[in-house]
Order: sequence, then structure tokens, then C-alpha cells
Amino acid sequence: MSGPNVLILGAPGAGKGTQSSNIADEFGVEHVTTGDALRANKDMDISHMDAEYDIPRAYMDAGELVPDEVVNEIVKTALAEADGYVLDGYPRNLSQAKYLDGITDLDIVVYLGVDKNELVGRLTGRRVCDECGANYHVEFNPPEEEGVCDECGGDLTQRDDDTEETVRERITVYEENTEPVIERYEEEGDLVRVDGEQTPDEVWADVRDAIESEA
Ligand code: ADP
Ligand code: ADP
Ligand code: ZN
Repeated sequence: MSGPNVLILGAPGAGKGTQSSNIADEFGVEHVTTGDALRANKDMDISHMDAEYDIPRAYMDAGELVPDEVVNEIVKTALAEADGYVLDGYPRNLSQAKYLDGITDLDIVVYLGVDKNELVGRLTGRRVCDECGANYHVEFNPPEEEGVCDECGGDLTQRDDDTEETVRERITVYEENTEPVIERYEEEGDLVRVDGEQTPDEVWADVRDAIESEA
């Protein structure tokens, strides 16, 4: 039997990456994340697309959305190869949501709700392992040894776009472009809301229950 097709939604910093790792481990599905895919291809030449900038990095450092054409292609390829997935960071606007409708069937949509005031502190304190991508927080989820990954011993660094200024821009972009996507899934009756302000373990218990009962 193939694994469930899970979509996880929430603001920047809501805990999507953290919970997606749990989902991938527990249900044996692929973690498909447009943010990581774009970070691995930051300097890809997209000048032929007649967009504002020539490389993804320029959009990401400004906190803006990379053109739909680029991310749609990434997601299409990744989902075609996955036998069950948790999709994280996509769709971020209504046009991406429409595209997604045409290429896959979702079993469950989980929304992690976190108050806006919490997000800036979560993102500016986020640290990510250069080697394995594991996620930490200097205060809420610190590694055993400062700057060193518990999982693999790799270096923990701060993402270029986790500065306060870019974080605020990303939250504005989220409100304008992605909140309508959440309303759309809610209207379609597919959305399960989870309180993302609980501890990571409590959030995980609710996410796991939701997937086990719906998917
Ligand atoms: P997203 O992928 O939605 O941007 P992350 O999973 O990367 O979010 O989490 C953002 C930051 O908040 C990370 O530093 C992470 O360790 C921390 N974090 C995740 N979940 C929680 C939680 N439930 N409570 C407090 N901090 C959290
Ligand atoms: P977060 O942890 O804040 O949710 P991500 O790692 O998902 O951030 O995304 C980082 C950046 O990558 C975004 O600010 C945006 O520039 C770009 N990006 C990621 N996913 C998409 C997408 N679906 N559409 C357009 N741009 C995207
Ligand atoms: Zn690591």
C-alpha cells in the first residue's frame, strides 16, 4: 500500500519543516519541500522566464515568491517520483493551488495555526544543520552542544533569509498570497486545524492523530 499524500500548511515559522520530518519518519513518505529544493538550486539560471530576477536567490533573499513556473516544475517532478509524500512550502498562492489540483490527489490537508507575534522569534532563532537539514531553535529546541547537530555532528547555521527584516516581508507575502489558499481548502472541507503553539511533541501528537484518522 502506498503512503498517504499529506499537505502541510502554515505561516513561515509555524513548524511545517519540524512536523514534516516526523511525518516522513512515521509514515514512510517523501518530504517534498520547495524551500529546500530552491535553496539547493539558488543560482539556477531562470533569465529565459522573463521574470523580475535572473536567479531564485534574488527572490528568496528579498522574501518574495519565486515564479510559479519554477516551483510548479519542481513539485510536479517530485510528486511523480514519490510513493506517498508530505508537501511543505507549496502551494503559496491560488495559482499554485490550482496547478496542484491538476497533478495529484491529496488525502489530508493539515494547517498549523500560530499567532503572528510568535513567528518572528521562531524564525530569527532558527538554526539549521548544513549536513542533514535538521531544525533547531536557540531557545525552544536547542541542540545539546551549541552550534552542533545532535543527529549528525554537522554545523548549525542561520538561513540568509531568517533576518528580522526579511522575516517581516515573508509574513506579509504570506498574508497576501497564502492565506487565501488556506481559506480555499477550508471551504472545500479538506482542512484539519492543529494548534501549532503547543510544544513540538504536543503538536506532533495532534498531527499524527489527524493523519491516522483522515488519511
Ligand atoms: P516552517 O518550516 O513552518 O518555517 P520550522 O519547522 O522550520 O517552521 O520551525 C521554525 C522554528 O521554530 C525552528 O527554529 C523550530 O525549531 C521552531 N519550532 C518548531 N515547532 C515549534 C513549536 N511547537 N514550539 C516552539 N518552536 C518551534
Ligand atoms: P519557511 O521556512 O519560511 O516556510 P521556505 O523554506 O518554505 O520558508 O521558503 C523560503 C523561500 O523560498 C521563500 O521565501 C520563497 O522565496 C521561496 N519559496 C519556497 N516555496 C515557494 C513556493 N511554493 N513558491 C514561491 N516561492 C517559494
Ligand atoms: Zn545534522
